[in-house]
Amino acid sequence: MSVNILYAGNPGRWEVYQREITTALDDYGIDAVLSPDIPHSDVDYIVYDPNGPVQDFSDFPRAKAVLGLWAGVERIVYNPTLLLPYSRMVDSGLTEGMREWVVGHVLRHHLEMDQDIHRTTPAWGRLAPPLARDRRVGILGLGELGKVAACALNALNFPVTGWSRGEKQIEGVTCLHGDDGLERVLNTSDILVLLLPATKATDNLLNAERLAMLPKGAVIINPGRGPLIDDAALLDALDNGHLSHATLDVFRVEPLPDDDPFWTHPKVTVTPHIASDTRPDTAARVIAENIRRGEAKEPFLHLVDKKAGY
Ligand code: NAP
Repeated sequence: MSVNILYAGNPGRWEVYQREITTALDDYGIDAVLSPDIPHSDVDYIVYDPNGPVQDFSDFPRAKAVLGLWAGVERIVYNPTLLLPYSRMVDSGLTEGMREWVVGHVLRHHLEMDQDIHRTTPAWGRLAPPLARDRRVGILGLGELGKVAACALNALNFPVTGWSRGEKQIEGVTCLHGDDGLERVLNTSDILVLLLPATKATDNLLNAERLAMLPKGAVIINPGRGPLIDDAALLDALDNGHLSHATLDVFRVEPLPDDDPFWTHPKVTVTPHIASDTRPDTAARVIAENIRRGEAKEPFLHLVDKKAGY
């Protein structure tokens, strides 16, 4: 029997997703109609993007699941019309991209590259930077992305300490949890990477008090979500010299408004939410696998816990 898949993704990406999801469905032997225009009453699965046209899920009587194209879920998880299972995107391409972005930005700060890149007058004689083994990296969030970033940094010899909600074991990484664990990871992070989701529990997690727990001169790298940080407290910590730099990819308001002080702050690097992106070819296979599971009445992959908010 054929299944009807409503593409409720970003309309600008329909062509690429049509091609990739169709290919993946064929590979999985799934007979399906995939279209942005299917009557709600006939829809079996909804492929969703927060920037797509569907935000009300109350009128899909036979739908079995909403299959998200984004890793982050804060724009859907508190949607009161979402009673269907929601499966978020965990995509090998997206994970690879995040690993590269995090390693790149950690290495920039670790190797003090800015001293050479931004030099305006001749200056010979600076000392070689320390080795990775002498630069402590903390990672808040040890999920799909945090874990891979932690392992990649550890493979370069950085001592990595990570923090998550539950207890974890990752080879080579010191894994902490709970309030004491957070304090410990903050106390021991020369470079701190944020890969937590935006939930009610993580809102303003890095407030003034917690920023003060970081060693003097620490760097913050945030590819997680803007609301993890109290922006005013971050600016204070940069201005008073406690922190030496913040590299920010995500913000409370996106696009970041033109007059936001982060754009021009000398100790802030802004990247425009490009740390990583879902890659249609690999993501399409995750969508197809979940549809296969739905049809076989097997549990969906990557289901979101609506109560926990991620
Ligand atoms: P994930 O697999 O859901 O992992 C989330 C991690 O955060 C888990 O380790 C979880 O702990 C931990 N966590 C959640 N709430 C917590 C709390 N209250 N206290 C302590 N730890 C908590 O998510 P992911 O796939 O790694 O993605 C992480 C985030 O990256 C996404 O939510 C999204 O916001 C962001 N992201 C950004 C980009 C970008 O381009 N900038 C791209 C993709 C994703 P447990 O392991 O114990 O559950």
